[in-house]
Amino acid sequence: MNVADSEVVYAIMEEAGYARTSDYKQADVIFLNTCSVREKAEQTVRNKLSNFSHLKRTRPHLLIGVLGCMASRAKERLLEEEKMVDIVAGPDSYRDLPHLVDNARKNLCAVNVQLSLEETYDDIIPVRVSGNGISAFVSVMRGCDNMCTYCVVPYTRGRERSRDPQTIINEIQILADEGYKEITLLGQNIDSYLWYGGGPKKHFDKASEEQKKNAVRFSQLLTMVAERFPMLRIRFCTSNPHDMTDDVLDAIASHDNICRYLHLPFQSGSNRILKHMHRGYTREEYMALIDRIHAKLPDCGITMDVIAGYPTETEEDHQDTLSLMCYVKYDFGYMFKYSERPGTYAAGHYPDDVPDDVKQRRLDEIISLQSEHSAQRNRSYIGRTCRILAEGVSKKNKEELFGRNPQGIVAVFPAEGHTIGEFIDVEIIDATQGTLIGIIKK
Ligand code: SF4
Repeated sequence: MNVADSEVVYAIMEEAGYARTSDYKQADVIFLNTCSVREKAEQTVRNKLSNFSHLKRTRPHLLIGVLGCMASRAKERLLEEEKMVDIVAGPDSYRDLPHLVDNARKNLCAVNVQLSLEETYDDIIPVRVSGNGISAFVSVMRGCDNMCTYCVVPYTRGRERSRDPQTIINEIQILADEGYKEITLLGQNIDSYLWYGGGPKKHFDKASEEQKKNAVRFSQLLTMVAERFPMLRIRFCTSNPHDMTDDVLDAIASHDNICRYLHLPFQSGSNRILKHMHRGYTREEYMALIDRIHAKLPDCGITMDVIAGYPTETEEDHQDTLSLMCYVKYDFGYMFKYSERPGTYAAGHYPDDVPDDVKQRRLDEIISLQSEHSAQRNRSYIGRTCRILAEGVSKKNKEELFGRNPQGIVAVFPAEGHTIGEFIDVEIIDATQGTLIGIIKK
């Protein structure tokens, strides 16, 4: 999401007459686009800021801005403690950046962390800077209304609002014309996408009958994109199991160019903890969703997020997490220790009471189990042929290409005259825990 937002920021700054430099030592303005989802991410930003302090001493006119979730969450601290920060802009304030830069130059207030019920940057065509020219992110919505107790997103990125589908199609058309082969539709809670031309999702009840009749839900958006761009490979994330509906699974099943891949965070396998987290589903409901995914989308890749050591988590809760993992056998997981985020419901109501050594041991058990499942899953591809989109040249061997199969697993194979950007049928002959090894299917 931050990569996509940074590309929007580049577009806004270029429009205002600024040019990009790839050498930060040459820059007149440096923006750090930040994440607040865990304490570690914020610490990384603080370390970067202190690295910039020497630069600021030698170049006093250099301006440093902090953008994104950390700007929303910690603006006072950034301005008071991190003295070298000149500009603070939250995720909904990027249109204001040229003005904030001007203000900072005049020593005026250069802070805007106002959250919006409307802003989706839908008329801005992002400047693609971080990709490979093959795959691109396209934001389709912003914010989240779910209020999971541990999560800072609703406070830093605001309420859920969806982007006009026509502007999404227009942006993808530009990418297709430029030769991109794969797009990933992005939303914090993407299955909740709802466009009706009347603002944030929370006001949908007050929409006119006409607006309700013409409203576009996520399954319809997905279908629209898949049918308009049959040559593009389409992915999307992130899905909250609570909001994922069967019509989305049906849309995937009906279109070969939508990847059989779902990122479906479960966070905990314990009903008690899921209730504490306000996740809106039970373990049984999650497992039933997995069963429906397998029935409708055989061979769908499924990845997850999980938190070890949420407040009050017992050994029994932890065992429920491990057993749910064994039920699903995920392809891959993003696995973390609970990190208390100031301002969230959990931080205000539940002491962070699982000792760190216990959290770490539980996390280690989760990681070790996931490693087994990833290895098993990857081995199951041996002998099969996968359609790989070549994304780059292997770092280890310049004669080899790498790319992903529709399930999102990386494969490496000899190039044999093929180039980046091609879809290639690759026969898998070996597999490690993280990578498939193949040869080009003759
Ligand atoms: S659905 Fe995701 S983004 Fe929204 S509050 Fe829950 S964890 Fe945060």
